[in-house]
Amino acid sequence: MSRSEQYERTEPETATDWHSRSLEDVYADLETSAQGLAAEEAGARLEREGPNEIEGEEGTSPLRILVEQYTSALIWVLIVAAIVMAGVGHTIDAGVIAGIVVFITLFGFVQDYRAEQSIQALKEMSTTYALVRRNGEKREIDATKLVPGDVIFVESGDIVPADARILEESNLSVDEAALTGESVGVSKEVGEVGEDTSLAERENMLYKDTVVERGSGTAVVVETGPESEIGQIATALEEAEERETPFQSEMDRLGKIIALGVVGAVAIIAVAELVIGDTPPLQVFLTAVGIAVSAVPEGLPAVVTLSLALGARRMAEQNALVRRLPIVEALGSVDVICTDKTGTLTEEEMTVQRIVANRETVEVTGTGYDTDGEFLRDGDPVETERVAEVLRCGLLCNNVDVGTRERDENETEAAESGEGERAYLGDPTEIALFVAAQKAGFDHRDLAEEYPRLGEVEFTSARKRMTTVHRTPDGGTAAYMKGAPETVVERCNRELVDGEIVALTEERRAEIEDRNEAFAEDALRVMGFAYRPDVPDDQTENPDEDLEREMVFLGLQGMLDPPRPEVPGALAGCLDAGINVVMITGDNAVTARAVGEEVGLRSTRVITGPELEEMSDEELAEVVDDVDIFARTSPDHKTRILQTLQAKGHTVSMTGDGVNDAPAVKNADVGVAMGIRGTDVTEQASDIVLLDDNFATIRDAVRGGRRIFDNVRKFVNYLLSGNGGEVTMIFTGSMVGFGLVITPIQILWINVVTDGIPALSMGVDPPAEDIMERDPRPPEEGVITKRIVTSIVGIAIFMTVCLLPLFTLNFFGELIPGYDVTGALLGWSPGYEPGRELAQTMVFTGFVVFEIVRIQAIRFRYGLGLFSNPWLVLAVAVAVTLQLLVLYTPTGQLLFDVEPLALVHWAQIGVAAVVFALLMAVFVKVQDRYFEQY
Ligand code: ATP
Repeated sequence: MSRSEQYERTEPETATDWHSRSLEDVYADLETSAQGLAAEEAGARLEREGPNEIEGEEGTSPLRILVEQYTSALIWVLIVAAIVMAGVGHTIDAGVIAGIVVFITLFGFVQDYRAEQSIQALKEMSTTYALVRRNGEKREIDATKLVPGDVIFVESGDIVPADARILEESNLSVDEAALTGESVGVSKEVGEVGEDTSLAERENMLYKDTVVERGSGTAVVVETGPESEIGQIATALEEAEERETPFQSEMDRLGKIIALGVVGAVAIIAVAELVIGDTPPLQVFLTAVGIAVSAVPEGLPAVVTLSLALGARRMAEQNALVRRLPIVEALGSVDVICTDKTGTLTEEEMTVQRIVANRETVEVTGTGYDTDGEFLRDGDPVETERVAEVLRCGLLCNNVDVGTRERDENETEAAESGEGERAYLGDPTEIALFVAAQKAGFDHRDLAEEYPRLGEVEFTSARKRMTTVHRTPDGGTAAYMKGAPETVVERCNRELVDGEIVALTEERRAEIEDRNEAFAEDALRVMGFAYRPDVPDDQTENPDEDLEREMVFLGLQGMLDPPRPEVPGALAGCLDAGINVVMITGDNAVTARAVGEEVGLRSTRVITGPELEEMSDEELAEVVDDVDIFARTSPDHKTRILQTLQAKGHTVSMTGDGVNDAPAVKNADVGVAMGIRGTDVTEQASDIVLLDDNFATIRDAVRGGRRIFDNVRKFVNYLLSGNGGEVTMIFTGSMVGFGLVITPIQILWINVVTDGIPALSMGVDPPAEDIMERDPRPPEEGVITKRIVTSIVGIAIFMTVCLLPLFTLNFFGELIPGYDVTGALLGWSPGYEPGRELAQTMVFTGFVVFEIVRIQAIRFRYGLGLFSNPWLVLAVAVAVTLQLLVLYTPTGQLLFDVEPLALVHWAQIGVAAVVFALLMAVFVKVQDRYFEQY
């Protein structure tokens, strides 16, 4: 019988006493051990227990999206209009309005639904991985696949993936605010606690979704998914309400302004027509409805939401996962990108190339993580003995392990069948040291047996070093330290030379420093190594910084981390786009400058962490614009640099990976986390996750953001100027006594169908050619600029000026009523009589044609040709076809009260459209003199 058949959870729902049982009991209950589960068994348990996830918000349900379509005031105006129409016997009109209401709501529904789906898909793309022991080895797996009985490893920056009982820990401290509401680090221990210990005091337990602040630990999973403590309190998971995007609030404000305008215009017309004129009330009502529908850009809200969501999806395809939609807008105004060095500008596949040991420099051959390589001095092989101590130190003071990485189904399958690719799991700096030691024939498992580890003083970016304590083969103890060379040398008073411990003189310190500089100038990342024989007894189990003194210096290892090939191009692109790029690194100034030069930073000025600390805020503010490298920084320096830049009015994007980077990432205008290398905590604090950790992706995201912004601006401009034209036309017609120059139903048709469809496709317009050549948009500049306001007014006037003659000519049979100057010029097609229906048809069709002209006029300014967006070509074709169906089919004529136009009418419209286009072209020239480009 297989284990999985035997295994029955005894008390799955109510087992809340995991903390008070003995470990043996816990193991027995879960049928597991410190070695974890077999992969097959874990698979069987996953089937039974279900995935380790808590049902979050499902997103908005389709029904709710549909209902939301009916919350707009406009829809209700239309519904009332339809009812009134039906009431006074205009059943056809009532029917058409009802049809259009259905169309608007369906159109909105489809857009919103697609947007919602895109957003959900984006949410699903962010996966958390957990390090687990299966089949006796470490594996990195999707955290949702954890099951009770799994043995997991956690370290600072991780979000605890499931409820678990601690087996081993080193300095482990967890922030359990997600569960207890209290945001202080809770120190964790191995052991048992009393049965009625409160959740907050169970120091031997880890709970899902809490955050590891410090240290590391191993634990056995006891509850997953909905059975976990956090799963029981569903409310804790509800995400903070999505902020309204700046776009949306601007659109809301706009909506209010339009509503006010409509009320004003309607009031004037009503007074004019009812009191002064002799128009029947129904006609006045119709005009009012006409004004209302012509002023409101019905298609706008849906189009904005959809283009944001689609844009975000496209960005995700390019490896920039947008976690908060509003950020898309801020992206376009980013003018400073602060970036890490290691892994973002560089490959983060490090190889040790040079070693200093026994006072001499040795070259190491081999590339990448390949374990073949030689040790050479002046081209001749040297015995590995000469470098063995430094390499051993690098392998002992090291947390890398070999296992499999399962980031997708294929990798899982391969791992399951024992064919999974062996991967180094851990920090790339340590991997380099691990590989270098392997080149000398060291085996990490053998070494771990010979020198069992007793304790660890953890690495942090602020400490820049790490120490481990070991039992030595001769029964003694020793501490091994590695870190930034200066911090290591500082703690040494002796050095090891040819097997003997000698005093470390000032002269020798200077020599080491020189060697370090020489490596750094070649862009090598340099680490120092030291050890301390005979660790004091009180420092073996739980060592602290006090241990790190009187050490014996062993040597240096210099590793190469080549720049990513795409970075120089991307960086140059950012500089062209008016975006300054600043490198903030923990590495030393010389290495940072050398790498900076390789990737094309201007390297005007370098400031180091210690220098930064000496500077006052004012001093920093004065020089910050000229600095493009900050070296030897600690994470809290990032926040200070960020605040200084922001205070100077910059819109800053900040990258981060470590736990302590989270505050800076959170407070940046655009916080960027690393998908591969980053900690869970930083990811949660971020706006965008780079799935490939690559700097070039930040540039792409900025371009994506600018493009979305451009597109929104284009269709907002397009829709509003069209609406402005309609309002002005109706208003003018009514004021000069022509009555309704176009029917409300025709306006609705234009706004929803012949404008709405092309506007939607403009949402996926390609980027303008100069998109990364212009300066970032000032952050206070919204979608609607002064220039766009003048455009709306100008276009409204031009449309009216060009369309009014079409109306008069076809209503009165003469261009200017009473002065027949054109009747002879154009003549009439046989069978056509001037009249309101014909004149309205002309204005109606004129608008449709003008709008198509207008689209191109807007797009030309962005350098986009007629056929650059196939969707738009299709949309225009659809709009034209539908308009022809309206004009030339009996049903269309019946529903929209139109007459089929003859060639002569099209000629009239053509002439008007040409005049309209010319007016626009002249106007653009005038605008260019007074306004910025957009
Ligand atoms: P970046 O900030 O660009 O990622 P970085 O990796 O050098 O650069 P940190 O991770 O803050 O920045 O590391 C700071 C310094 O600490 C490094 O330059 C190195 O000297 C040292 N260091 C890095 N990793 C370790 C480690 N695992 N153990 C000991 N020391 C380390």
